[in-house]
Amino acid sequence: MNNRAALAVLVVLASPVLFPRPRVSAVSSAELAVTAAPAEDAAVLVGAGDIADCRDLAGAEATAKLLEQVPGTVMAVGDLAYPDGTKENFECYDKTWGRVKSRTRPAPGNHEFHSAGAAYYFGYFGSAAGDPKQGYYSYELGSWHIVVLNTECEAIGGCNAGSQQEKWLRADLAAHPVACTLAYFHKPLFSSGGAHGDDLEIKPLWQALYDANADVVVSGHDHDYERFAPQTPDAAADPKRGIREFVAGTGGKNHRPFTAPHANSEVRDATAFGVLKLTLRSGAYDWQFIPEAGKTFADSGSGSCH
Ligand SMILES: [Zn+2]
Repeated sequence: MNNRAALAVLVVLASPVLFPRPRVSAVSSAELAVTAAPAEDAAVLVGAGDIADCRDLAGAEATAKLLEQVPGTVMAVGDLAYPDGTKENFECYDKTWGRVKSRTRPAPGNHEFHSAGAAYYFGYFGSAAGDPKQGYYSYELGSWHIVVLNTECEAIGGCNAGSQQEKWLRADLAAHPVACTLAYFHKPLFSSGGAHGDDLEIKPLWQALYDANADVVVSGHDHDYERFAPQTPDAAADPKRGIREFVAGTGGKNHRPFTAPHANSEVRDATAFGVLKLTLRSGAYDWQFIPEAGKTFADSGSGSCH
């Protein structure tokens, strides 16, 4: 093939709009990640919780492979290093998700706190994990404000209204009155997962987010994937101002079954490890659950900020 013919082939392959091709039924997750490249003004936040267990790293390895394919900021949503968040446990995390450590902003989970003060979590991530006395912090990503919370409430003086973290959260949100806000933290307020379910201890934090008109929350803790419709902290459907919650406890540890679906639950899966990719655009967002290689469950859609 001469250069001109080779170029023509390249153009056809790269131009699905100009030269539509029939959809291939078995698209690999790696291909999905590549084809869903963000628009130019968009930022990408991708990740999951409940990740690496030294006793079986296959799941964490599968999701680490996905992250290698997706540029953007990585959210590690708690329970990163099983069973006890020790130095050795974090060496196993490092073998997998350590590959994207330089672009990771973590949230701590309960297993990190099996080691007093989550010392090895904070030691491993350094300043990327925020103040070790708090474990909560915020940052800007594209046009979005991102808040990371610490749901190990007992370790930091509670999560109730008036607690240090809740007061910090309200002040942080007031200081960043942007159109689009996302928060991620380990324990979900809403979950149909059979192992844990709803965690009402988190409700005051959700209330603060709702009061400030936040848009999206991502949690883990239950080892499954679940998507909720926008709702209030009292679980009332609220398409206008509600927060859309994702549970993405699919980082690789294992899967556990659901109970009956809770109110506003839209999609559930407990078969595939994978990562949740959020493309954060100006005034809107797209979500895509990318399954590990060999699994077929997927979920995608879009929402607007309010
Ligand atoms: Zn947990």
